[in-house]
Amino acid sequence: MARAHLRHTVVEINLEAIRANIAHFCDWVGDQVNVMAVVKADAYGHGAVEVARAALKGGAAWLGVAQAEEGVELREAHLDCPILVLGPSNPEQARLAVAHHLDLMVTSGPGWASVLEAAQGGKRPRVHLKVDTGMGRVGVRPDTVVSEWLPRLTSGKVQWQGLMSHLAASDEPDPESTQRQLAVFLDVLEAVRAKGVAFPPALHLANSAAALRYPGTHFNLVRVGIGMYGALDLEGASELEPAMTISSAVSLVKRVPAGTPIGYGGSFVTNADATIATVPIGYADGYRRAFSNRAEALVSGVRCPVVGRVSMDQITILVPDGIPVEEGDRVVLLGRMGDQHITIHDWADWADTISYEILTGISTRMTRRYSGAQLE
Ligand SMILES: *Cc1c(COP(=O)(O)O)cnc(C)c1O
Repeated sequence: MARAHLRHTVVEINLEAIRANIAHFCDWVGDQVNVMAVVKADAYGHGAVEVARAALKGGAAWLGVAQAEEGVELREAHLDCPILVLGPSNPEQARLAVAHHLDLMVTSGPGWASVLEAAQGGKRPRVHLKVDTGMGRVGVRPDTVVSEWLPRLTSGKVQWQGLMSHLAASDEPDPESTQRQLAVFLDVLEAVRAKGVAFPPALHLANSAAALRYPGTHFNLVRVGIGMYGALDLEGASELEPAMTISSAVSLVKRVPAGTPIGYGGSFVTNADATIATVPIGYADGYRRAFSNRAEALVSGVRCPVVGRVSMDQITILVPDGIPVEEGDRVVLLGRMGDQHITIHDWADWADTISYEILTGISTRMTRRYSGAQLE
């Protein structure tokens, strides 16, 4: 393992930022609402177990994962809070979830059958019914909740723990779609109430953006992912601190004459004498090839253009004349240096994508270092 740490290209995760961001959401939603820290996909590339611990310190009461295996990893790290599997489970995953006391999301008849199958041995699975209020992906039809689902959920075969839905456009400017989905969810709750059936303990609809923008969607639990990582692209999210920094060190500096093609395909050609610095990061690390001739990196506190193609393991940076640079100098690819800040939204723009895809594409080839160790 020691050898893996020789490389200077590292991902630093500030666990204090995770803790503070969750605390911010807890304050924002108030005492009556719990916060679920969503740590699926290895906590959006930040490391599930470490992030989960910091989030619980910040006041999260729940953890959310996408699949049972991810929940088991958390249980094996002795995290014993409620954990909800936010994606559909196949029969093997349902069995695993029940064995590890994970809450399951049910979204279909076949899903229900695998939950019942997993219930063997007298265990009563903990179940959240997911309703499709307008996302059009997974979830049962709202008009089937009372007729088809209430009898199943109250049959005594499961512990009915939650009623939930998911928003399709809570981070987009137009509130109309969110309002429509909220109205459908409220109708479902009203139909359950009219039946005289008690609500399950958890009613939840909001993701990060809705938690910040739409208090009416809070009910008694909000599910916070991207906001916890400080990577939510929204006005009003500026108090959230980015948790991830990516840095490296210059591996080579050279002076080249005008007319020198740089990198694969010679997609950049110098138009004057130039200083080119090579940095050992590439698309195999999640530093996207789409960044070629678009990205910037911080050298000596100055934003310098990434020129030529991003290769698998290396990039080339044009360091403007007058900016000092030597082999071994620190380079910040994502994060702050001096008064400059390269954000996850810069990365997303350069690749025409969203922060979620960038973060979950960060490769485990890069060593992760954690700060905020006082949390441990
Ligand atoms: C991933 C996920 C979330 C978290 O969404 P963010 O936008 O990252 O806050 C919430 N709910 C469900 C069902 C999810 O799958």
